[in-house]
Amino acid sequence: MDRITAALLDWYDRCARVLPWRGFHDAYRTWVSEAMLQQTRVETVLSYYPRFLERFPTLPSLAGASEADVLKVWEGLGYYSRARNLWKGAKQVMEEYNGVLPCEPEKLQRICGIGPYSAGAIASIAYDIPVPAVDGNVIRVISRLFGIRTDASEKETRLRIEGLASGLVPRDRPGDHNQAVMDLGATVCVPGTPDCSRCPLSAYCDAFHAGDAADLPVLPKAKPQKVIPYAVVLIVSSGSVLMRIRTEKLLQGLWCFPLFEGEYTPESLQPLIRKALHLRTGPLVDSGPARHVFTHQIWQMRVYKTDAEIAASAPEGYEFIPLDQLKDLPLPVAMDAAVSVLRHQA
Ligand code: SF4
Repeated sequence: MDRITAALLDWYDRCARVLPWRGFHDAYRTWVSEAMLQQTRVETVLSYYPRFLERFPTLPSLAGASEADVLKVWEGLGYYSRARNLWKGAKQVMEEYNGVLPCEPEKLQRICGIGPYSAGAIASIAYDIPVPAVDGNVIRVISRLFGIRTDASEKETRLRIEGLASGLVPRDRPGDHNQAVMDLGATVCVPGTPDCSRCPLSAYCDAFHAGDAADLPVLPKAKPQKVIPYAVVLIVSSGSVLMRIRTEKLLQGLWCFPLFEGEYTPESLQPLIRKALHLRTGPLVDSGPARHVFTHQIWQMRVYKTDAEIAASAPEGYEFIPLDQLKDLPLPVAMDAAVSVLRHQA
């Protein structure tokens, strides 16, 4: 076994984080945990993971659920395409693999929602296949360890990093090794300034000796997020509020109130509502600002509330949802401020 790998596993045996998805050889559980952990902090996932498994304890139970049920359990975790893909992937596994996730990374990667990283994680952790699982944490650790100072977003560099990561994976305990790298990247070799004094690999680390660990990996500057102004309109009629299921890629499948992109006054918004929704409404009450930050954009919202004039019927694509049923629908966190306006004024 490589001396770096041996030092890492020794450290893992002493310092591994205790996490509810560890200690099992269950590919479904590993898949769920890896899907939840993408772009999401471990602390956040800790509350969602047991709840999800309680509701969908097996792959067939997930495959047999409705999309709305799955999104409801995922509500608040964000990046909802992960939940939809997990659900679609579960159906695919039922059809193509009789309900059992395959162990080969190539086959895993053909399942909806499973990319190279998740395939490596599932194959190594659940099936002891000696393959790497390369995510942002691993790119950081490998770049520093081996002193890779070219742009890690470039294909050539990426392949080099994958090759080096692959070379470290032992035949014995590949899953523990991959989880050890993940733990090191999450707790010691962190973004920004790493805590090299606690690192079991400092003796072998190029960046530690060169003193430039904080500068690695080399990545292009992230573009600033685009700020998009929206008016969120709460149109209430006889104890119900107008909503629709989003069909756009962002927040697809989740219920939202009518949104109008742009900055408005109540006077400039009213005719737009009439034109777009074919509804006559009473005066718009400005119920305050709200803001939601996505990865690539920020919604700068202003919430307005109004009453639909007499027994209005919902326009095409929309429904009037009774206020006491809102809690049963999958709603994005972006709508939280608007929902609380309804609660306070109910
Ligand atoms: Fe990361 Fe420092 Fe360890 Fe190198 S010595 S792997 S930079 S924590």
